[in-house]
Amino acid sequence: MDLEGRRESSNVEDRRGMSAGRKVGIGGIGGLIIAGLITLLMGGNLGDVLQNAGTMGMGMGQEQQGEVDPTQFTEQEQELAAFSKKILAGTEDVWTKVFQEQGLGRYTPPTMVLYTGSTSTGCGQGSAQMGPFYCSADQCLYIDLSFFSSMRQQLGADGDFAYAYVIAHEVGHHVEYLTGTLNKAHQQMSRMNEKDANRISVRLELLADFYAGVWAHHDNKMFGSLEQGDLEEAIICAQKIGDDYLQKRAQGYDVPESFTHGTSAQRMKWLKLGLQTGDVRYGNTFQMSDAQL
Ligand SMILES: [Zn+2]
Repeated sequence: MDLEGRRESSNVEDRRGMSAGRKVGIGGIGGLIIAGLITLLMGGNLGDVLQNAGTMGMGMGQEQQGEVDPTQFTEQEQELAAFSKKILAGTEDVWTKVFQEQGLGRYTPPTMVLYTGSTSTGCGQGSAQMGPFYCSADQCLYIDLSFFSSMRQQLGADGDFAYAYVIAHEVGHHVEYLTGTLNKAHQQMSRMNEKDANRISVRLELLADFYAGVWAHHDNKMFGSLEQGDLEEAIICAQKIGDDYLQKRAQGYDVPESFTHGTSAQRMKWLKLGLQTGDVRYGNTFQMSDAQL
């Protein structure tokens, strides 16, 4: 990607290198973990959309205020942080414009929280093992930047556009939150058995992939950010985080009814559709039968 001269977002809270502070059990607040960007990457069935089903306030984690000393990070870590802030800034510019043009109202950006290891969130304790995730209760996306090295080492999914896709996918959940899709889906899921809830989860995740594609379409239009090979990077990444691919890789077989994110083919399809159209009206994963997804 060509990000030369691009601004860095200021909607960022840098908690890297800070201790996790007061531990708050997710179970204790009735929090619900739903779905995930790359569930099996770290070997756990964890997810990237945390929902606060309880009444816990949003002040958690506020005790972690303080300045981060930039000298404690390697050059590579600082580059990744700057990169993530530029991508986030791009999502702000794109979604502000798209919301306006496509009649979705006013876009309010999420905050990106950079952390190391574990951190408290409006949805309970978050940890790096979960991979990047979004919490609608505090409208933050949480990323431990070491995730990007895991992507490279464990999945062979590498390249700056693949990393950008991860951030744009989490911002996609924020778009789902702003449009009301996320809360509606979570309400439905809370009344369902696991198998049916998973079918809703897949639709949420594929929609977030689609929104990541919509972002890339417009980011490229506005800033000329895409370079040769970028699209392939993201498509390969989408392929390597399909539930079928990850399950076969981890255990030798896949169990379709346990899928929470969609297959490799589905994830590639929806990312591509967003990339090609740049039009949110095509993001109709909730109007599709399982076979059409
Ligand atoms: Zn997701």
